[in-house]
Amino acid sequence: MQNTHATEPWPEGVIARYLTLAGATVDVTGGGDSTGYRCTGCPYGSGQWREDIAHGHAQGHAETCRGLPRPTQ
Ligand SMILES: [Zn+2]
Repeated sequence: MQNTHATEPWPEGVIARYLTLAGATVDVTGGGDSTGYRCTGCPYGSGQWREDIAHGHAQGHAETCRGLPRPTQ
């Protein structure tokens, strides 16, 4: 598997990323009381959480998600 996560620029607004088992990422966006998260490997995602809670959800999902990242193109 090609690992480009270290060098790829992050999408605008992304403040943190959690790497999933399958190599997708769960992107955390926003901040403060309106922090959201979105998985790039499956439809999982939500918004408007407190920042610490959003990070917890994102990390928890990253540990279990096996959805493959959608090819860029
Ligand atoms: Zn997922």
